[in-house]
Amino acid sequence: MVEIKTESELAVMREAGRVVAKTLQTVKEAAAVGVSLRELDEVAAQFISDAGAKPSFLHYQPRSAPTPYPNVLCTSVNDVVVHGIPTAYRIQGGDLVSIDCGAIVDGWNGDAAISFVVGDADPADLALIEATERALAAGIAAAQPGAKLGDISYAIGVAGRASGFGMVEDHGGHGIGRLMHEDPHLPNEGRAGRGMRLKPGLALAIEPMLVAGGTDAYRYADDGWSILTADGSRAAHVEHTIAITEDGPRVLTVR
Ligand code: MG
Ligand code: MG
Repeated sequence: MVEIKTESELAVMREAGRVVAKTLQTVKEAAAVGVSLRELDEVAAQFISDAGAKPSFLHYQPRSAPTPYPNVLCTSVNDVVVHGIPTAYRIQGGDLVSIDCGAIVDGWNGDAAISFVVGDADPADLALIEATERALAAGIAAAQPGAKLGDISYAIGVAGRASGFGMVEDHGGHGIGRLMHEDPHLPNEGRAGRGMRLKPGLALAIEPMLVAGGTDAYRYADDGWSILTADGSRAAHVEHTIAITEDGPRVLTVR
């Protein structure tokens, strides 16, 4: 069921989104060579707790998952696309790091992700990240009242494919509100003019995932959560939570 939020509910989601945005910024600043993914998770847990919010991911278990999610962040490095579990791995110079974070304020969720390179960056990695950010921006720009859900998918897909990168199959964005994952599912590619009409009060997480090697295929790591590129090439993932409003898309997870 698709839930339409009131303006006051969106205001609380904006607060959750603000906590997520600030957590991501704090984690990015802490992400230096030699810092472990688990240490980044601890930074996020502390920040969210200090903000009086709760982490969305901790103990989250969708039907498809083998175990409850064990951490606050998803930390996806290099060929890990999404859902990387924070381990004792220490960040190395040139790593492409994606951080995904969710937080709950007064029962309402925010969900966002950033990708960046720590230390000296390979220009190819920066190009991949920029293309992923362009796909996200295109998706947000298409999230206009009266447009269709497929218009967002189409915009993400066209922008994502423009540079020849792969787009991870079967994965996309989602409705968000009291639950982190609500209807509708938002594919990262689709046909313009198809799907449900976008009404003010609909909140969506938009999250393109691009693969440097050009493949769309993925595989699971042994932990049952981490999703890796099938070709071993690097991936980038960025995400914002937005709301459809009468005035156009409103990004809830900017600082
Ligand atoms: Mg997310
Ligand atoms: Mg999400």
